[in-house]
Amino acid sequence: MKIIVCVKQVPNTNEIKINPETGTLIRDGVESILNHDDANALEEALKIKDRDPKTEVIVLTMGPPQAREMLEECIAMGADEAVLLSDRALGGSDTWATSNALAAGIRKIGNYDLIFAGRQAIDGDTAQVGPQIAEKLGIPQITYVREFQMEGKRITVQRALEDGYQVLKTTMPCVLTCIKELNTPRYMSIRGILKGAAAEIKVWSAEDIGVNEELVGLKASPTNVYRSFTPKPKGKGVSVKGDTAKELAGNLLAELKEKHII
Ligand SMILES: Cc1cc2nc3c(=O)[nH]c(=O)nc-3n(C[C@H](O)[C@H](O)[C@H](O)COP(=O)(O)OP(=O)(O)OC[C@H]3O[C@@H](n4cnc5c(N)ncnc54)[C@H](O)[C@@H]3O)c2cc1C
Repeated sequence: MKIIVCVKQVPNTNEIKINPETGTLIRDGVESILNHDDANALEEALKIKDRDPKTEVIVLTMGPPQAREMLEECIAMGADEAVLLSDRALGGSDTWATSNALAAGIRKIGNYDLIFAGRQAIDGDTAQVGPQIAEKLGIPQITYVREFQMEGKRITVQRALEDGYQVLKTTMPCVLTCIKELNTPRYMSIRGILKGAAAEIKVWSAEDIGVNEELVGLKASPTNVYRSFTPKPKGKGVSVKGDTAKELAGNLLAELKEKHII
C-alpha cells in the first residue's frame, strides 16, 4: 500500500509578515515548523504502517529549499521517502496553482492508495488545497477527519461538524484532510533523526512534474491579494454593572444614550 502525505512548512508565529507590494507572505528569517494538522496526517499514515510494515509512506511538499529540514523531520518520525517540489516557477502560487503542482507531483509518484493532508495550514489558512487536489486527481475526498478506520480498500471515517459528526464511507484511492482530534503525533526517534539526516530527498522542478506558467506561479494564480494586514487590537471594552437583569438593561441603555449610539 502506498500513502502520500502532503505536508507544508509554515512559519512558527502568529504574526505573519506580508510583503506590501505583492501581498504575499514573507517567510525569510522566520522559524519554520511542520504544519500542525499535517503532523496528524502523517501520524495516521504511520499508524497504518505500524500495522502493515510493507506500507510505503511518502511525504510531499511544495516550498523553498529550506523545506528540506521539515521533510527530514518527517522521515525522522517514520516516513520512508520525501519529495520536494521546488522551483522559482512555482513561487507566488495561490491555492489553485499550489494544488495543480501538488496534484502533478502525486501523479508523478503514481500508484497511490491514500492521500492524507492537513485540514488547514496555519499561515495561508484557507483549507482549500486538500479538496482541490482531490478534484484535480478526480478521486473522492473527505474533509475534517477526526477518526479513521480501514478494512481492505474500504474506509470509514468520522467527519467533524460544528455540533457533532458524520460517519462517511469511501473506497481508495481518496483524499482525507485531517484535524488535531484524529491522533497525537509521535516524536522523532533517535534512529529516525539519523535516517532523516542521511536521507536522499527527491527535488523536482516544474518541468519534472510537467507544469508550466499556465498552471503554476503568480501569473497563473487567479487570486489577487488587494490588501493584507494584521488588524489593530480593539480598544478596552466597557463592563456594565447591575444586580438584576432590569438594572443591567437600564445601565446599558444609559451608557448607549450617553455615547449617542441610540
Ligand atoms: C496571489 C498569491 C500568491 C502567493 N504566493 C506565495 C508564495 O510565493 N510562496 C508561498 O509559500 N505561498 C504563497 N501564497 C500562499 C499560498 O497560496 C498558500 O500558502 C498555499 O496555496 C496553500 O494554501 P493554504 O496555506 O491556505 O493551505 P490550506 O489549504 O489551508 O492547506 C491545507 C493542507 O494542504 C496541504 N498543503 C497546503 N500547501 C501545501 C504545500 N505547499 N505543500 C504541501 N502540502 C500543502 C497541507 O496538507 C495543508 O495542511 C500565495 C497566495 C496568493 C493568494
